[in-house]
Amino acid sequence: MKKLITFLFLFFSVTAQSDLKKDLDNQLEPLMKKVIEWRHDIHQYPELSNREFRTSKKVAEHLTSIGLEVETEVAHTGVVGLLKGSLPGPIVAIRADMDALPVIEKTGLSYASQVKTTYLGNEVGVMHACGHDAHVAILMGVAEFFAQHKEQIKGSIVFIFQPAEEGPPEGENGGAKMMLEEGLFEKYKPEVIFGLHVSNGPHGYIGFAPGPAMAAASAWRVTINGVQSHGSRPWEGIDPIMTASQFINQVNTVVSRRINIVDNPAVVSVGMIEAGTRNNIIPETASLMGTIRTFDPKLRKEIYSEIKQIASGLEISSGTKINVEFDVGGFYPVTFNNIELGERMIPTLKEASDGRFGLITKRTGAEDFSYFSQEIPGLYIFLGVNDPGVMEQPGNHSPYFTVNDDALDEGLKALIYMALDY
Ligand SMILES: [Zn+2]
Ligand SMILES: [Zn+2]
Repeated sequence: MKKLITFLFLFFSVTAQSDLKKDLDNQLEPLMKKVIEWRHDIHQYPELSNREFRTSKKVAEHLTSIGLEVETEVAHTGVVGLLKGSLPGPIVAIRADMDALPVIEKTGLSYASQVKTTYLGNEVGVMHACGHDAHVAILMGVAEFFAQHKEQIKGSIVFIFQPAEEGPPEGENGGAKMMLEEGLFEKYKPEVIFGLHVSNGPHGYIGFAPGPAMAAASAWRVTINGVQSHGSRPWEGIDPIMTASQFINQVNTVVSRRINIVDNPAVVSVGMIEAGTRNNIIPETASLMGTIRTFDPKLRKEIYSEIKQIASGLEISSGTKINVEFDVGGFYPVTFNNIELGERMIPTLKEASDGRFGLITKRTGAEDFSYFSQEIPGLYIFLGVNDPGVMEQPGNHSPYFTVNDDALDEGLKALIYMALDY
């Protein structure tokens, strides 16, 4: 008898789910029209990390208008919406990140960003070059769909609109880590979390890497203090620019010569050089910044000590004083996709994408979704948003990065199906 009841229960819940999926199909066109409008608007008015004031206001107004319980100013500019379904069931969280990047947009789109701001002391453009505009718009659409079908929802859904995924400005706290520190999960108690990222990949294709999916990221900064002199009399000073160039050469031997990457890949890159103001003045200081990507905490520590050793050696040979900092502006752990949850969601994702699904290999990109999926089982999926039929397109963080609107319904469906099937 118990078996029969279980069977009937399963049968009816599956039926309820497929009813909802049918409803979604019928509603998809008008809903996607709204999602695309929202995205274009957010794209045109991008905001940097911890400055997502306009975006979070738009999100909060939308969530309130569709009847969710809404909390604002979570970790500065974050918004959390709670939808309580009418039937008992688990609590599921879905996360979208809201921030843009200091990039001058060069897409030429009609809704391209013209926004300018100051970043690290320089005037810069602001652009949704990582596609977070798409994430926000999709999740607003997901919330609208579920709000309209509250009576059929078993359990609750927590909609997390997160600020500062790209990293808060130096000296500020922010992002997923700060949301958790403020007690996000204690308050809403989700048992599982889903997230999505758009990326340059085949149109409408969905994929994820099981287990360690994205690298840990640590920003490093090296400040080289020399002795200032006139450019015509370098022997009177100690040239920090010369030492900086030697440092760049040597830091590139860390991965190629100093550590074992047979089992675990690693990347060390230099992304910034800063020194000097004029052709004939040798400055007092030079600074370099870069990133370290790893999948293994032990290897990361080894890289730290190799870089410190390079710095100590250069101090002796050049006479400069070198200060080395790691985890500048915070640290991103490895983004881990729960193996069991991933396996369970494969049929769901195949269904949502009409079979355009595949497992992918890990990436050296990083995500602060990692903080969430460190606490509870999480699944982070990628959606390809290239133009149809195009394989190679400018990638995330490029001033030419574009998102093809017609691929976004796949993302919306994937998030809705995962929440429903879970
Ligand atoms: Zn990014
Ligand atoms: Zn991103």
